[in-house]
Amino acid sequence: MPKLKLITFGCQANELDSERIVGLLAREGYELIERDEEADLIILNTCAIREKAEQKAYSRLGTFQELKRRKKGLRIGLCGCVAQQEGQALLARFPYLDFVVGPAQLTSLPRLLRDETNRGLATARTPTFSYPVSAPVYRRSAVKAWVSIMEGCDRFCTFCVVPFTRGRERSRPLQEIVEEIRGLKQRGYREVTLLGQTVNSYGKKLRPPASFVELLETIDRVVEGEMRVRFTSPYPGDVTQELAEAMASLPSLCEHMHLPVQSGSDRTLRRMKRGYSRDDYLKKVELLRTKTPALALTTDIIVGFPGETERDFEETLSLIQEVGYDGAFIFKYSTRPHTPAAGLSDQVTEEIKGRRLEQALGLLNSLSLARNRAYLGRTVEVLVDHEDVKRDAVRVAGRTRENKIVHFSGEGPTDGDLVLVAITGASALHLQGELICANGAKSSGKKDLTTLRPLSMIS
Ligand code: SF4
Repeated sequence: MPKLKLITFGCQANELDSERIVGLLAREGYELIERDEEADLIILNTCAIREKAEQKAYSRLGTFQELKRRKKGLRIGLCGCVAQQEGQALLARFPYLDFVVGPAQLTSLPRLLRDETNRGLATARTPTFSYPVSAPVYRRSAVKAWVSIMEGCDRFCTFCVVPFTRGRERSRPLQEIVEEIRGLKQRGYREVTLLGQTVNSYGKKLRPPASFVELLETIDRVVEGEMRVRFTSPYPGDVTQELAEAMASLPSLCEHMHLPVQSGSDRTLRRMKRGYSRDDYLKKVELLRTKTPALALTTDIIVGFPGETERDFEETLSLIQEVGYDGAFIFKYSTRPHTPAAGLSDQVTEEIKGRRLEQALGLLNSLSLARNRAYLGRTVEVLVDHEDVKRDAVRVAGRTRENKIVHFSGEGPTDGDLVLVAITGASALHLQGELICANGAKSSGKKDLTTLRPLSMIS
């Protein structure tokens, strides 16, 4: 049986693509393995969103050059957004690379692998990918699943490479998504995360059109409280009153939203072509929090966008403070090919970007810590998804409905269990607690925690 080593960089869309790659290649007889030396096929599924992510993929690729020389028959491929972005140039730059496959061309992988005579290239001029329903997906987790509901993006923010690598926005038919989720529920999955680059823009181009809220309502009826539902990432401009109401009323929808803001300065937001102002964004936050006071909010922020002044940066800091995020991914701006911002003359120096990053992270940490400390003494519902045995002690981890990571000790709960944990400690990144109730059969939904069995009843 040929052996496959797969390395994934980047976002959840790439994680799902990797599960698709493994599914496709399992059908060709490949077995997934961990050790590089044992592999007959090595695939790097790459991310192009930031220069650092792209460089990381190249540097990992470089480590396989020697192995390729030593191991006869080893094939090495590069998939994902860097593959789509660079295409043929990668085959020229890395002579030991056997094939390059863009995210819209994954289904060509088996064909490319069967043809051992050529160095293959499969990238799309205009990505129009929708992974066929009949094509396999290898799900790494038996508890949580990613489900793609739409792909690509029409917004063309001036810093972002996604519309070039993943193509224009297109949505999957509503019924197809619902059937996939129904199947996951039947197989015992406890959580589903709906994926899309601007996930709440879902359905606009479908004929007849469907709305994101309509999709959420349909999914909520299908999962019947047996699964948690999340989605990522929504576009702030498309957060509507209907979506805020759905967040508050649909029992399956978790109380967490990752709402990328990118900057707190109107001037920078305009230069980024984000399509909303600071005030618009804050109004969306207010709307969401009014409807769902328990909502946890996380975000993405870029510091050092071209032309960002100290004043612009101060406005980003003040927005972080005003929203009081539960967490954020904060990055230094990096130029990306094809994007308008790469050509701007007023690039910010690395030194200034580094300082701003430190400052923003410092502020974020203090706010996240304060948000997490508010959980001390509370009892939360945790979906167990990780067990770690160290020196006789069993440490279990899972996530709350607000997507907080909780670590606690205790034997009994296994992956997929819903348990109640009393929170006894908090840091900026996670919570610690004590198990008080385990082995719940159903998600409690927004209000009812009584379906969980008390710990004392576990035999
Ligand atoms: S909305 Fe998101 S994915 Fe689309 S271009 Fe802007 S940053 Fe990129």
